[in-house]
Amino acid sequence: MSKILGTYARRKISFSHGKGAHLFSTDGKKYLDFVSGIAVNSLGHCHDALVNAIQEQSKKLWHVSNAFEIPEQEILAKKITDHSFADFVVFMNSGTEATEASIKIARKYFFEQGKENKNRIITFKGAFHGRTLAALFAANNPEHTKGFGPKVDGFDQVEFGDHEALKKAINKNTAAIMVESILGEGGIRVLPNECLVGLRKLCDEHDLLLILDEVQCGIGRTGKLFAFEHFNIVPDILVYGKGLGGGFPIGAMTTSYENMKLFKTNPILGHITTFGGHPVIATAALSNLKETLGSGIMSEIDEKEKLFRSLLKHHYISEVRGKGLMLAI
Ligand code: PLP
Repeated sequence: MSKILGTYARRKISFSHGKGAHLFSTDGKKYLDFVSGIAVNSLGHCHDALVNAIQEQSKKLWHVSNAFEIPEQEILAKKITDHSFADFVVFMNSGTEATEASIKIARKYFFEQGKENKNRIITFKGAFHGRTLAALFAANNPEHTKGFGPKVDGFDQVEFGDHEALKKAINKNTAAIMVESILGEGGIRVLPNECLVGLRKLCDEHDLLLILDEVQCGIGRTGKLFAFEHFNIVPDILVYGKGLGGGFPIGAMTTSYENMKLFKTNPILGHITTFGGHPVIATAALSNLKETLGSGIMSEIDEKEKLFRSLLKHHYISEVRGKGLMLAI
């Protein structure tokens, strides 16, 4: 009997190594890996650039407390901000911690303005934002929250795609709208451009923050660094993770100077973690990002999507949906 607590219903396969798009099982079979660690190994397994970067860093420095400046983190943050709307990044160990950071910063944003009751966040049915208590109740999927009550308050849920219900849900206590640019766990559902533009407009009209969760759809998977770049909007807060580390655990939240300039407290957020932005992991993420941005891999994704769509035509297949290489049958 396994001594690992049953948090997963695991398949009876284990792997000894991986290279590129292939995984090799301990019983000697070769697999073409369509799971990719669930949206993680975007450059495949053991990419040479990452192997070299990690090896070099592992000889220099592993861990120092976030109480000190960490140059590897600074370089990574600069790379990300150079390629996005954002001016600031905070690194976490997982996507969930990054969504928590976004919930906290949205509330603090209004608290700093003396509006501490403007603290509720509108979310959508079918969403997934992670597995901490707040993230679970933000998504409010009954299958995931069962047995974990009492409910974490502060979230108002509306039906995905119901703009009228969304408008009705906004009140004086609403601080933010949080949504995945493309729903991942909720079935690879792409929000139409006009829907995202509508969300942005509502946020502007009602002084709300727009939080986009790109933990699953971000970091090149759709052919742009961030999925929202396909649409005519810019969020206030962006959350991502998974693909950023190229196989190493990292999550991140970014926002703009414009949003943060009124913060009077120092530190601004106090959402701290021992390991977030660890030097080896930041190095892996930087190498991954350089490859993703510099190798031309993203410019091929549109063609690859077309190829998949043209070949995935069969009377058993009723629909292919998604964007870029985030496709579902
Ligand atoms: N947000 C979205 C959209 C996700 O798909 C996930 C994970 O699947 C998370 C958040 C949580 O990320 P993590 O598993 O790294 O905590």
